[in-house]
Amino acid sequence: ATVTVEVGLGDRAYDILIGPGLIARSGAEIARRLPGVRTAIVTDRNVAAAHLDSLTEGLAAGGIESVPIVLAPGEKTKSFDALQEVVDGVLSARLERGDAVVALGGGVIGDLAGFAAGIVRRGMNFVQMPTSLLAQVDSSVGGKTGINSSRGKNLVGVFHQPRVVLADTGVLDTLPEREFRAGYAEVAKYGLIDRPEFFAWLEKNWREVFAGGAARTEAIAQSCRAKAEVVARDEFETGDRALLNLGHTFGHALEAATGYDSARLVHGEGVAIGMALAHRFSARLNLASPDDAARVEAHLAAVDLPWRMADIAGPLPDAERLLGYIAQDKKVSRGALTFILTRGIGQSFIARDVPASEVLSFLRENH
Ligand code: NAD
Ligand code: ZN
Repeated sequence: ATVTVEVGLGDRAYDILIGPGLIARSGAEIARRLPGVRTAIVTDRNVAAAHLDSLTEGLAAGGIESVPIVLAPGEKTKSFDALQEVVDGVLSARLERGDAVVALGGGVIGDLAGFAAGIVRRGMNFVQMPTSLLAQVDSSVGGKTGINSSRGKNLVGVFHQPRVVLADTGVLDTLPEREFRAGYAEVAKYGLIDRPEFFAWLEKNWREVFAGGAARTEAIAQSCRAKAEVVARDEFETGDRALLNLGHTFGHALEAATGYDSARLVHGEGVAIGMALAHRFSARLNLASPDDAARVEAHLAAVDLPWRMADIAGPLPDAERLLGYIAQDKKVSRGALTFILTRGIGQSFIARDVPASEVLSFLRENH
């Protein structure tokens, strides 16, 4: 059965459809919303090998023509070179503004294709077909698109909302286990931000979520509802949307400290450690109970996610250098550090004046 979650953005509102079989039904679902549309499918080689033929057929079944643009997998594809390749591909297919760029892939493909759709012909239609768990629960929802610069990640981009998101849960069967687990960190994140009942549900039902079926669809739908709610309140991240960065300040620092080497740490794993640290740090600041920090650590350990710095293979820079990575993170303003901290499970808040000295001694203790 398909679950629909609506993202309430006025005249740009759109549906997120979640469930099995959506690739096969994609033509009908897209044609209903964008009659007469032509498409370019942007994807990577891994996803193309498993799902491009079915998508091409699914679109054709709804009378939709498509041209594939297949890129190399991996974070390096969020680059100016790859952007140019997508732009050239879309233009040489002679697509017009009313036509659509379809992103079939993980967050890398969604961010890149969405950015291309946002700038070609001053903004074309865009359809997200997320294929990683992370993309289904996070990156495909909310309209942030972009690429990396030599100065840092995600520094070049636009807000460009999709017209529809089709999250086919069946495609997750071909996703490598480690990528699924990493995406699960973002699922748990929504519980920890402001949905304590959802976190408790995950503590009981995570095995079923990993196994697939209805529990998986339910977890993805709950996550999309949580994100859609925040995005509808604060589309352009002038306030509340920053809550979605729970675990990301420490997490980004660890990703940078490990040289973005996916053999050592992928994004979701950094977020898992970051969320555990955010709870432990909140306990150290006497904002939350140490029992809540322990509960978060225990759940991450149960699903076999890393939860402390010692879980990262190989040497890490010392606490001072780690603080340097945190201070380079964009959520820093004038010496005071901004963190997402918590008063307990599901009670996260934005703390804008965290003294760097507190962070440093915490990092020393937990290194
Ligand atoms: P990814 O796109 O690199 O996908 C992970 C790996 O899984 C890749 O090797 C990919 O080829 C493979 N893959 C994806 N789906 C597959 C499938 N169904 N079967 C087999 N293999 C499959 O990475 P990701 O974790 O999906 O996304 C990470 C990116 O998302 C980062 O660049 C991050 O900055 C971005 N992001 C964006 C937002 C946003 O709001 N726009 C939010 C969070 C993350
Ligand atoms: Zn994230």
